Amino acid sequence: MGLEFFTAQKRGSAQLPSSTTPKTAARSAAAGRTRSRSVLKTFNNIKITILCGFVTILVLRGTIGLGNYSTDAEDQTLAEETNRILAEIRSGYDPTDPNDPIEQQRDLFLNETYTLGPKIESWDEDRKIWLSRNPDFPNYVNGKPRVLLVTGSPPNPCDNPIGDHYLLKAIKNKIDYCRLHGIEIVYNMAHLDMELAGYWAKLPLIRKLMLSHPEVEWIWWMDSDALFTDMVFEIPYGKYDEYNMVIHGYPDLLYNQKSWIALNTGSFLFRNCQWSLDLLDVWAPMGPKGPIRDEAGKILTANLKGRPAFEADDQSALIYLLISQKDTWMNKVFVENSYYLHGYWAGLVDQYEEMNEKYHPGLGDERWPFVTHFVGCKPCGSYGDYPVERCLKSMERAFNFADNQVIKLYGFRHKGLLSPKIKRIRNETVTPLESVDQYDFRHAVHGEVGSNS
Ligand code: UDP
Ligand code: MN
Repeated sequence: MGLEFFTAQKRGSAQLPSSTTPKTAARSAAAGRTRSRSVLKTFNNIKITILCGFVTILVLRGTIGLGNYSTDAEDQTLAEETNRILAEIRSGYDPTDPNDPIEQQRDLFLNETYTLGPKIESWDEDRKIWLSRNPDFPNYVNGKPRVLLVTGSPPNPCDNPIGDHYLLKAIKNKIDYCRLHGIEIVYNMAHLDMELAGYWAKLPLIRKLMLSHPEVEWIWWMDSDALFTDMVFEIPYGKYDEYNMVIHGYPDLLYNQKSWIALNTGSFLFRNCQWSLDLLDVWAPMGPKGPIRDEAGKILTANLKGRPAFEADDQSALIYLLISQKDTWMNKVFVENSYYLHGYWAGLVDQYEEMNEKYHPGLGDERWPFVTHFVGCKPCGSYGDYPVERCLKSMERAFNFADNQVIKLYGFRHKGLLSPKIKRIRNETVTPLESVDQYDFRHAVHGEVGSNS
């Protein structure tokens, strides 16, 4: 495999339109790399200045009414130029920079087998000692395990600006759930390991957080495109005392059908222990971007039922690993389907009105799904498996369904599941503390207040 091929793969994945790579001259001047780099940076600065200029002109034209100042053709050119510069800023990748992580790691990758980091062997013992020396940071508080919810999104703006709005709604939804249930939350936007960009980014992140937070008992990964839709339900941790991983799925699909959707890696839990570090180590090697990920994708498609042909993804790789090394791992993996730790959106989002009429939060299953996950929607990317309008409308419904459970605390609800407008559901009172006791749905965790209809 030639170096050129590898480099080409990397550049391809930056998703720049072919017309937007005017860096050929700098690329050919191998000897003058440093000089080229500073020239490029000056170039970038000029580009940003020009962009600011364009935006100022646009704003001025809008405010002082010079609407007919330029022709349609000029408008078009202006828009194209703005988009082109934005695309370059978004890509963020500087091919002339020897300090760029991609350039650095290429050598590593070509010389060694891929790893997430130095092999750690004694985490259980080390963590135990740390916990005994740091009694102010216990891994169990009031009998409950300390949980860290981890999520994230790419460092750059979404291809479609509306995607950023839904990332914001999705993190607001998670902050609400975590606040109400005493769970800490991490939102990551950095690529800790350039080789594992995209859906693989969760692996190095989970590992880093386990090692940096020995006080955390469970790390709970949740995709950015998954929303809490039951704000009352709590994970029954006691059920998993003997397990190190909890993931939504179906044993029949896993063992008998070897289906590529037998498990879903959009929402799962890892215990902070040596076993989890070991699993991450054997899970990661199919992830490195480029030829490795592409070749691994072929193996996964050949072995997993229903899998389309595409590069290796973290979910298929985990399923393949757990099937092929069942005896090594499965005694510590709890395959959960008694509630929706992950719930596939398409079967749920049209049922919210009916759920509102018949049931109440706290159930977590098909009657009131704990998590609704927008698999395949890619609201932040450019190509999803479903029409964008359908995805966005469904996400809006799920968000408002959940948000009703939150703003009910303050005496409001949304006028409809597609409406940002809210209405009052209780009168203001001069004795607000009475309503705190009466309506705070944290009581519902203990089965006191249920319905939000
Ligand atoms: N993700 C991330 N950084 C990235 C790209 C993706 O943290 O640079 C996360 C993000 O939370 C996203 C998840 O990886 O939700 C998995 O990707 P996606 O949800 O698009 O896959 P799907 O669930 O549709 O299979
Ligand atoms: Mn997802």
